[in-house]
Amino acid sequence: MTDRLLGSADVAIIGAGLVGCATAYYLAKGGVDVAVIDRSSINREASGANAGSLHLQIYIHPHFPDDWIDRIRPTIELMREAQKTWATMEKRLGTDCGIRLGGGLWVAETDEEMRLIEKKVVAENALGVMSQVHDRTGMLKLAPYLSEHVMGGSFLAGEGFANPLLVTPAHVDAARRHGARFITGATVTAIVREGSRFVIETSRGRFSAGQVVAAAGAWTASIGRMVGLNLPVTGSIAQVSVTEGRPNIMLDHMLQHVGKGLTLKQSRQGTFIIGGGWPGLYDRRRDHKMPALDSIVGNAWVAARTVPDIARAQLVRAWGGMGSGSIDGLPIIGESSVVRGFHVAYVPLGFTMGPITGQIFSEKFLTGAASLPLAPYAPDRFLDRAA
Ligand SMILES: Cc1cc2nc3c(=O)[nH]c(=O)nc-3n(C[C@H](O)[C@H](O)[C@H](O)COP(=O)(O)OP(=O)(O)OC[C@H]3O[C@@H](n4cnc5c(N)ncnc54)[C@H](O)[C@@H]3O)c2cc1C
Repeated sequence: MTDRLLGSADVAIIGAGLVGCATAYYLAKGGVDVAVIDRSSINREASGANAGSLHLQIYIHPHFPDDWIDRIRPTIELMREAQKTWATMEKRLGTDCGIRLGGGLWVAETDEEMRLIEKKVVAENALGVMSQVHDRTGMLKLAPYLSEHVMGGSFLAGEGFANPLLVTPAHVDAARRHGARFITGATVTAIVREGSRFVIETSRGRFSAGQVVAAAGAWTASIGRMVGLNLPVTGSIAQVSVTEGRPNIMLDHMLQHVGKGLTLKQSRQGTFIIGGGWPGLYDRRRDHKMPALDSIVGNAWVAARTVPDIARAQLVRAWGGMGSGSIDGLPIIGESSVVRGFHVAYVPLGFTMGPITGQIFSEKFLTGAASLPLAPYAPDRFLDRAA
């Protein structure tokens, strides 16, 4: 830390991933003097390294806890609103974000997987996410490229994918047009209350802010500890693989396998993008996130088992990134009642949910009320656990 004054703003957002940049966009558009501080560069971590899937149906797996749907039920409304945000994003931001909303499929191979999909669809429909269950015949009508192993699944119109290399920069450009500032290469090391303001100590100097928003993804817990708050978010490495371009068969769909860990899309260049949360490797010394060979092989096997055409495509690239999750699977959005002026904007599946999180955070910040209930996401729910 140096004593140099780096700058000041009414609101400082820590983290220039999609969540921080979307929040900056909505706050700046609402007239707030806002600066985003990042230790690295914009979109450098999970927001630029993810698979680009828009998860607007519940993300589920047979190994998740039995009460998973009940636990994350409030986020169904968030998914419903996120769908509208993605459908209008390119018009709102005035630029190409690589958005393709051909619809989303979950596929099942077993009765048990099919039951899980049916349960998921009931919960979604009750809160306005209008997914539909289909048997094998119905799935093949929607997606003739599916293999003989698929026995059925669900479909949601309006699901799809976007380009992670375009979405955050599009929010940054729009935020800048409204006056937001971006400070990169400044690692936040401490946050100190001084009178009615916060002093944010960084590797490049001190930054003074009236209010602070922690939007640091997998590093949210470490920012919380700087003000004595417990924000239980943990990181883990996930990976993505990409094939060479092939004739386009996937109709702008985003496909997921409920039992075997697969997300699959085909880009406009014809490349298959293969993900699904398979674990990668982390070299802590160099902060290097890498794909693991056995995960590449396993993930590609599931992809080719589900969509046989992929067996003929050559893999050309794989990479790892720092994913994250909260201890209860829910977002953490809002102001701490203990450290007034300190806010959190954290959401799992933050590529899909980043823009809507920025939007509802800002609604609450600007008007005192959000269009969706934020109580389930309050940072205060972790107060009884030590930081
Ligand atoms: C391989 C992979 C695939 C994924 N696929 C999908 C997908 O298909 N769909 C989906 O919805 N989600 C997906 N995710 C999850 C999604 O990418 C993340 O949830 C989302 O990008 C998180 O956004 P964020 O802005 O919260 O965090 P990040 O993008 O990680 O940004 C956090 C920022 O905080 C900064 N920061 C941290 N500590 C400090 C500090 N002390 N000082 C200053 N700055 C700091 C970091 O440098 C970083 O830029 C995937 C994740 C991975 C890793």
